[in-house]
Amino acid sequence: MIEDAAPATVALPDLVREVVTPAAAAEILEKTRLHGCNPRKLDSSHARRLARDMCNGRWDDYNPDVLSLCGHGAAIQGQHRLEAVIISKAPRSFLVARDVPHGAATTMDCGKARSAATALSLVGVDGHRKDISSTIRLLQNYDVERKNVAWPAWRSVVYTNAEIVRFFQFKYSDLPVFLPLMTAVKNGVYSAPAASLACAYLVHRDGGSISHADDFFQGLISGAHLDTADPRWITRRYFHSPARPRRGNITSALHLGLLLKTWNFWVTGETWEIANFRATQRMPDIVNASCAVQAQQAFRNPSEDGPVVPRRRAADRVSVPGQTMGMMHLPLEEGFPV
Ligand SMILES: [Zn+2]
Repeated sequence: MIEDAAPATVALPDLVREVVTPAAAAEILEKTRLHGCNPRKLDSSHARRLARDMCNGRWDDYNPDVLSLCGHGAAIQGQHRLEAVIISKAPRSFLVARDVPHGAATTMDCGKARSAATALSLVGVDGHRKDISSTIRLLQNYDVERKNVAWPAWRSVVYTNAEIVRFFQFKYSDLPVFLPLMTAVKNGVYSAPAASLACAYLVHRDGGSISHADDFFQGLISGAHLDTADPRWITRRYFHSPARPRRGNITSALHLGLLLKTWNFWVTGETWEIANFRATQRMPDIVNASCAVQAQQAFRNPSEDGPVVPRRRAADRVSVPGQTMGMMHLPLEEGFPV
């Protein structure tokens, strides 16, 4: 019997649904600081993320996570939610437990955190959830943060699970359509899964031509019959180098930048000497294939993106001015495996 197995001497606290105003939240947090009841440091950026969810309607008031207060009336669990109530300037109801012993905090929040990938399963994403959630982060940074945050700092932009779900539902719900192309790109090019999926998605969304996109990916993936001056050949050589960056938080953004630059060069009939995407460069806009002629002119203008040469000048490559060893990401060995 369950009753026999239950610890008879332990009484769980009663839970009461209470509305917590910003003023009440501030008072609880003040008591928490005063009595030192919560040794857990308040992470203000985490609180701001929760406040974002509260402000944009993504906070779920059915969330039964308990706000635990000790005998001092201080928060031993829930300080980030309280801080978020203050930031969002709106009252919020919580299940509140009072007179919880301080020692009970030892076993609080020890559960396994739920990932954005798991959250996506609740809105019907049934495969490649981890790749899709990483790609949504990458796309959101590309579409929204690109002008504000340099790409090497994208790793510091954190989204809540609720935000990832919202971005999926309202902006990127067709992302799973591109999963077969993602698989082909990552297996053919060795690019990171999120970069492969984001590139497939963005080129189709912003590239302006399905037939150009098909041609582009076919050559990029297979490497077959590519001229050595084709930007896709040069990009493939970069990715097939054992020295290429494979891991790390910014790998996806780095790979996305390389793949998008490859598209831009290819669609405008340009190429590059060495595949590179430096930390100081901005994440490229995607050249629309139907505007490629005008874009070609723009690409010939001096830019910080390094030497750009017409694609049919492969034989002259060694004499291109401006190329320095410092730009090289890998040795220019002839016969490098492709
Ligand atoms: Zn206390």
